[in-house]
Amino acid sequence: MIIGVVREGFPGERRVALVPAALPALIQAGFEVVIESGAGEGAGYPDAQYREKGARVVLRREEVLAADILLRVRAAGADGDAGATDLALLKPGQVVIGMCDPLGRPEALAQWASRGVTLFALELLPRITRAQSMDVLSSMATVAGYRAVLLAAATLPRMFPMLMTAAGTLTPARVFVVGAGVAGLQAIATARRLGAVVSAYDVRPAVKDQVQSLGARFVEMPLEAADAETAGGYARQMDEDFYRRQRELMHQVVANSDVVITTAAIPGKRAPVLVTEAMVAAMAPGSVIVDLAAERGGNCQLTQPNQTVVCYGVTILGPTNLPAEVPYHASQMYARNISNFVLHLAKDGRLDPDWQDPIVSETLVARDGRVVHPAAVVQSPP
Ligand code: NAD
Repeated sequence: MIIGVVREGFPGERRVALVPAALPALIQAGFEVVIESGAGEGAGYPDAQYREKGARVVLRREEVLAADILLRVRAAGADGDAGATDLALLKPGQVVIGMCDPLGRPEALAQWASRGVTLFALELLPRITRAQSMDVLSSMATVAGYRAVLLAAATLPRMFPMLMTAAGTLTPARVFVVGAGVAGLQAIATARRLGAVVSAYDVRPAVKDQVQSLGARFVEMPLEAADAETAGGYARQMDEDFYRRQRELMHQVVANSDVVITTAAIPGKRAPVLVTEAMVAAMAPGSVIVDLAAERGGNCQLTQPNQTVVCYGVTILGPTNLPAEVPYHASQMYARNISNFVLHLAKDGRLDPDWQDPIVSETLVARDGRVVHPAAVVQSPP
């Protein structure tokens, strides 16, 4: 079977679904790999490196789109309007694997399903040990958490570390991370490495030890959060009363921070508003907020997706695609994840999925012309 990788078309997307180092395992498993010329360029992987590892590099995108299996960073809803021209060229029976934003934009799945393709959305991978090596959400969140801190450090008019110099002592930056999941923990680790004094809060009580093991302070709040975690390890949506109380309790911590990085998310739901305009106003001028929940409406009331907002002297950044700003390593991790997924479905150079396996059944969103994933079906407009 032929695996095809196109150059991503979404504005600003610099990642690529396969990097050259990922090819040998796929080729050894019996697949042929076709890459659109220039597909890896934006991420730092020239065509020659793909050829060296055994890929056929072709100029015509249509040739790649005719492959049996298409690996993409973005497909369906995650690709916005960028995938529309590709869609018209897809044929029944082809398999498409990528990030599809099935919960955020479920309506796009129907269009892709109507082409008769078998579509897998990698965001829906169950978070079980067996699937860890395929977990694109964790990989991309790791990159985003790291990058968020660098953005904050570059925007803040202060340095992160404490310095004792002949010109006097500089106090370290105070960083508060809200939401200590994968992105938040990486943000904590990165801010610590830069010498900041870091504190963090997460609604899932189990996270406290992880925060402390990274050298950050866990901000204790008298909130009843015992049932805040779902069986899948995600945060449960709490009621508005809970969020109101959380905002009150966080007010002073936010006001005392130079940098606030928010990552609080509930899968498939709008992100809770945890930093209000009044809280922003209480921060010192020059402070920075990086809102990683911007794509889901934002954790800060003033966030605008993909914009820099300056209010009360505080800069609020709402980036929605930070992994694309570290495309070399983001692609390397993504390629390893997606290759492991393909190899999990494969047998003797063909795809032969066990449809009962949760790794397969939970990621499958379209098959035989229909949207099949329950979460996506439920949320689709009639
Ligand atoms: P996410 O991106 O959905 O959410 C980010 C964080 O925001 C979460 O830690 C969540 O608890 C937190 N949050 C939500 N509402 C909040 C609020 N009101 N205040 C403060 N924080 C709030 O989650 P994620 O980072 O993708 O994953 C969450 C967890 O899933 C991980 O930390 C881990 O425990 C688990 N996980 C398991 C596996 C696995 O077993 N294979 C893989 C990845 C993640």
